[in-house]
This record gives sequence, C-alpha cells and structure tokens, in this order.
Amino acid sequence: MTGLSERERAVLDAVPTGLLIGGTWRDAASGRRLDVEDPATGQVIATVADADVQDGDAALTAAVEAQAGWAATPPRERAEILRRSFEAVMDRQEDLALLMTLEMGKSLAESRGEIAYGAEFLRWFSEEAVRVHGRYSVAPAGGSRLLTMKQPVGPCLLITPWNFPLAMGTRKIGPAVAAGCTMVVKPASATPLSMLALADVMQEAGLPPGVLNVVTTSSTGAVMEPLIRDARLRKLSFTGSTEVGRRLVEQSADQLLRVSMELGGNAPFLVFADADLDAAVDGAMLAKMRNIGEACTAANRFHVHADVAEEFSRRLAERMAALTVGRGTDDGVQVGPLVDERQRSTVDELVRDAVARGATVLTGGERVGDAGYFYAPTVLGDVPAGARILAEEVFGPVAPVTTFRTDDEAVAAANDTPYGLVAYVFTRDLDRALRVAERLQTGMVGLNTGVVSNPAAPFGGVKASGFGREGGFEGIEEYLETKYVGISLP
Ligand code: NAP
Repeated sequence: MTGLSERERAVLDAVPTGLLIGGTWRDAASGRRLDVEDPATGQVIATVADADVQDGDAALTAAVEAQAGWAATPPRERAEILRRSFEAVMDRQEDLALLMTLEMGKSLAESRGEIAYGAEFLRWFSEEAVRVHGRYSVAPAGGSRLLTMKQPVGPCLLITPWNFPLAMGTRKIGPAVAAGCTMVVKPASATPLSMLALADVMQEAGLPPGVLNVVTTSSTGAVMEPLIRDARLRKLSFTGSTEVGRRLVEQSADQLLRVSMELGGNAPFLVFADADLDAAVDGAMLAKMRNIGEACTAANRFHVHADVAEEFSRRLAERMAALTVGRGTDDGVQVGPLVDERQRSTVDELVRDAVARGATVLTGGERVGDAGYFYAPTVLGDVPAGARILAEEVFGPVAPVTTFRTDDEAVAAANDTPYGLVAYVFTRDLDRALRVAERLQTGMVGLNTGVVSNPAAPFGGVKASGFGREGGFEGIEEYLETKYVGISLP
C-alpha cells in the first residue's frame, strides 16, 4: 500500500471496512479479508471483510428484524434521514470523490459528478417518501367501496456493479428507505469502499440499526444465492451484467420475489443528415466517454447518415485524440484506466476484430502505458456489419462508426440487438425525432443530448437490458405493494 499521498491515505483510513450488520461494524466470521486495488497502479490500497454464507444470513436476519419497526416509522422521519444523508454526502463530496477515484479509476471530476448525481437520489426520494398515496372509490355498480393502500414490499437485497460505485447504490437505497423497506446491500467486490462510506454517512444521519446492512464478499454467488432463495427476502434489485441478471431471475423464481433488473446495454447513437453536427459531436463525447465508456448507457455504436459520416468521424476523432489519459487523481486527467486487465483485453479484442474485418483506426486503437489498465480513446471508421463491436457491449473508450442512408435503415440498425436500454438521436426535424423515438425498442431515448440519466426520470430498459425503473415517480413503486380492501357499504 505504498505510493499513496498523505491525503489519499487519510481518506482510505476513514472508511469502515467491516460488514455492517444490525448497526454494528464487524469482521467476517471467518476473519478473511478481501483486497481492493487502485486500477491506475494495480496496487492494493485497502482490504475489506470477506463475508461467507453465515455473515450473509446474519445480515438478512438483521434486515428482517428491523422491517416492522421501520415500516411503522413516520414517512417524514424517513424523509428527513434521507435529506440529512444527501447533505452529508455533499458536504463530503471531495473526500468521497477521491475515494471513488482511488478504487474505480475515473477522473476526480467524474467522481465528483457521480457523488452529486448519486446524492440527488437521496434528495429526490426524501421528497417522495411523504407522497405515497392510496385511493378510495365507489365501485361502478355501487354498494361497495374500493380502498387501496401502498405498503413496503419488505426486506430487499440490492446488488450493485463497480462502474458507478455510489450512484447505483443510492438509486436503490433512496427509494427503499423512503418506502419503508429494510435491506442488505452487496457492492461489487472491486469497488466496495464508496458503499461502505455511504453506509457510514447514513448511519450518522440517523438511519436506525438493521435498516441498511452491507455485505462485502469474494464468494459472491455462494453468499447471495441462499439469500435470494430465503423466504424472508421479498425483493431483489440488481444492476449488473445481463448474464448474471438472468441467473438471479432464475434463482428468484423459488420465492417469486419482486425483481428489478438494470442490465447491460448496447446503445445506438443515430446522427441524421439534418443534425446539428456540433451538438452531435458534443453529445457523442458525453455519451461515449462518460465514465471512460464503462457505463451501461454508453453509446456503443454510431450509426451516421452517409452524407455527414466522414465529417462527424473526423471531428469526433480530433476530440478523442485531444483527451488526456492518466491516473484519475492527477490534475487535468480526463480519461482514467479501465477497471482491470480483463476489461482492457476485451476492449482490445473487439477493436482488433473490427480492424481485421476492414474497419479503419481514426485515432487510438491500442493499450497505453506500462502500469495500470489504460486504453487510448479510439474512433473506428467504416466498421462493417458483422464486426463483434457492433453487437457486444464495449465498456471502454471506443467509438465504432458505421453509415446508413434511410430512416428505416437507421431504426433497423438501432434495434438490431438483444439489448434495449437507451438510444441517442440527433436530428433537427421534430417529426423525424418523434417517429424514430416511437420506433426504437429501448426504455430511454436521448434526443439531441448525450446524457439521459436524471434522478427525477424513470431509468431502465427493455429486452435483455432488464425491467423495472429507477428514479422518477416510478422508482419508489418498485419498493411498494398495492393492497386492496373491498368494503361493503349497502
Ligand atoms: P456483474 O459481473 O454482473 O456484477 C454486478 C454485481 O453482481 C456485482 O456486485 C457482482 O459481485 C455481483 N455478482 C456477480 N456474480 C453474482 C452471482 N452469481 N450472484 C449474485 N451476485 C453476483 O457486472 P459488472 O461487470 O460488475 O458490471 C457491468 C455490467 O453492469 C455491464 O453489463 C453494465 O451494462 C451493467 N450496468 C447496468 C446498469 C443499468 O442500470 N442498466 C448500470 C450500470 C451497469 P462481484 O463484484 O463480487 O463479482
């Protein structure tokens, strides 16, 4: 754990690294620890408790025991805990951003952005906690009344990925807390520190013991599966790969759990001939390079009208080539390392496959540096149909460009994927924009913008990108059941 500055060391030392169970930080029953690496150097920067099945069970038990009391807590009280948590996270934005950069690699500016975005879910759901409504109506035939009420679903298991270590957590924790659910949270083993720090902040903000339990483990499948099959659990919310999501849906069938799945994406980015090219290139930079391309919403493939493809590609390549690559903590760095060597090899493999099939490298196309997992921002032109990069999630800083001639061709290319999370559309023609948006098989569309994520909007996908929505008015519904009471009133 050498090579860290004094401030970096202090920020790391301030994070509790045990399991949070029933309001107490404790070691794993086995005493085992799990290493956390800095992807910019490959060095171990911290260790956290490595839970086994027994610890997982203890965490669920704590959540189950806290459930009735938490559900009975006044909504205003739950709201105020979330509001205080939002403020505490923002007060600590600088430290939390540094922590995130150390464990995940993205630049400090991007980490600050994620802290603000992630905290916003706490604020949004503090506002939603007091606006959960049922209804009362007269039955159409008269003679009885229909009463509906909303109740918390019960104890939840929330599993999050490494790419947004805080925000993917607050998107679930915010609505769960607001709805009156208790939970076990399992962050990705590559990036557990941001979640542990968040849990610490929320405890300080007054969250009662047992409402939020955190389990870190390297035996992920073995520790999670018994929880998912446990009759005491009532809800699973998962963000991660489609492959793992599918397996968890199967496991959840045992108890017929309520399930939300935020899975992989393969976002098309459509640029029509009438698009404002300045806006399209700006949007492309955001949609592609946010989080080093390691985002489920990342534009994966660029379908550009043949009349503007050359100019768009040239301008995008110039912007990509001008980016500064380096350790995320260093001044001026815009592009950090990928999360690990496996991720970098996948990116490189997809680039090589495209080039072997005839794509042109307009910039980048190679690994960078001796240490860490850096990859050069890359633009590939003339990518032929059949290239793997058009079909698989790249999860890295690579923009493959291909062309179309008609709107029908553009929509068909966009929909030619098992995924359906988000699509980006750049056009100045409102009729075209609406027609295309209606035909896209995705949960979200970015119209003349490269960013759709917003805590006040329903985030989520269709097809192999999963189901359920996070954020917006819809977000809290995932954590509520509707109970109907039929009343006789002769
Ligand atoms: P992943 O391998 O599916 O891991 C996600 C989480 O699932 C991690 O906490 C992981 O734990 C856990 N996990 C792995 N195997 C498991 C099992 N058998 N049982 C229970 N949990 C298990 O995905 P990732 O590589 O971390 O994340 C990248 C993927 O997430 C991409 O496909 C991306 O598109 C997707 N993503 C989707 C959204 C969205 O909202 N749609 C947002 C962000 C990311 P370990 O870390 O311990 O393996």
